[in-house]
Amino acid sequence: MTNGQAAPAWNDTIVALSTPPGIGALGVVRLSGPQAIAIADALMPGKKLSGKPSHTLHVGWLKHHDVSIDEVVISLFRNPKSFTGEDVVEISCHGSPYILQQTIDACITMGARLAKPGEFTQRAFLNGKMDLAQAEAVADVIASQTAAAQQAALHQMRGGFSHELAQLREQLIQFSALIELELDFATEDVEFADRTALQQLLVSINTVVQQLMDSFKLGNVIKEGVSVAIIGKPNAGKSTLLNALLNENRAIVSDIAGTTRDTIEEVLNIEGVLFRLIDTAGIRQSGDVIETIGVEKSLEKLRKADVVLYLFDVHAYDEPALKEAVSLLQENARQFILIGNKADYAADIPEARLGSNNYIPISAKTGINLDVLKDKLVQTVMQGKTNQESTIVTNARHFAALQQVSNSLHDIQQGMAQHIPGDLIALDIRRCLHYLGEITGTITNEDQLDFIFSKFCIGK
Ligand code: GDP
Repeated sequence: MTNGQAAPAWNDTIVALSTPPGIGALGVVRLSGPQAIAIADALMPGKKLSGKPSHTLHVGWLKHHDVSIDEVVISLFRNPKSFTGEDVVEISCHGSPYILQQTIDACITMGARLAKPGEFTQRAFLNGKMDLAQAEAVADVIASQTAAAQQAALHQMRGGFSHELAQLREQLIQFSALIELELDFATEDVEFADRTALQQLLVSINTVVQQLMDSFKLGNVIKEGVSVAIIGKPNAGKSTLLNALLNENRAIVSDIAGTTRDTIEEVLNIEGVLFRLIDTAGIRQSGDVIETIGVEKSLEKLRKADVVLYLFDVHAYDEPALKEAVSLLQENARQFILIGNKADYAADIPEARLGSNNYIPISAKTGINLDVLKDKLVQTVMQGKTNQESTIVTNARHFAALQQVSNSLHDIQQGMAQHIPGDLIALDIRRCLHYLGEITGTITNEDQLDFIFSKFCIGK
């Protein structure tokens, strides 16, 4: 199936509640399809909506069989200038679940059917209003809980990612056409496709693909949050630090995908990045989560976290033991920050002596350098990238397709180095094009689409 073609002819009209269920000031019921305007017209007699232009608002009484449902505002969007590309009507009612249900029931009686999850966005995709990566970004925008997640999703929804891939695909298609042309002249041993230029193109595609794949780690972190473990000996000041961070930066979040309640206790939002403080229950209960970081249980925790904050009391520490802790961190932690706490009353510790340049002296109690620590946390995660301008892959499906693109690029390059026949190279190029196309939905099948959109909620 290909998008961007003539609009698929749906003859049914779908309806759903597009705002969250429950009581609110307003609730919006959305209709999309060829009968959307006629249905609204029938429910708001006297307004003659069928004759009204696109992008207009109409205030009036919604009635079903002469019984008033509510005084509402109707927004009218005519195809193709609407979210789905079809005629769309949005009915803003007062946010009573009873009224909203009556409104939906009235639309169904008039010929609409209840939309499936993600069906509005699916129609938008199939009508060529957006590509698949953009459609998926709609779900991410709705789910975003921090500025970083919001910006990455908005960038993708605006088509930043798609644009980058489309350009690469375009160039590769040109080569593929030339190589396939050579096959028609197989007996004459001609080369239409300049092999050196093809090599260069493969290298540049590979660079972009690798950058995108690398960005997935960051993308995942932005979407799911960065796991942080605070460890250190009893009395180092772990719970004081935890409370200090929570006082200022506690994040308001709903559920975070792929995480369980017992491992996460607290979530922070620092400069728009979500940090999940893991195993905080241990800090609260016993104060000695990790007494000696050498024990296997502690090492496991340390390896699990994206970032480890290792805290020690600058006033009471044993230098050889601390150095050993640092080398264990270097070997086992993905990233770590060494924190010398209680700097409000003790001398600073020179970094060189600790064998780590990831060292910050702070005072969890008085707040000295807490801002520096927070900046360092964000820097450690973002690694200098500002996600407003760069494309960051946040979707596991895209990452999997990029891996396939990377594998097929490797096969093409290897094939060329071994001077394999053009028809085999052409096959590898087609495979590469296939996976590039899968991301934006240029190449896809119905089952895959149903799967992707079924993960949306109803009304999207
Ligand atoms: P934990 O066992 O690692 O969780 O340590 P706590 O957070 O319970 O702190 C142990 C003791 O050190 C408490 O009496 C805290 O008030 C004190 N403390 C923590 N941070 C600081 C600090 O930055 N400066 C000073 N002077 N005392 C601190």
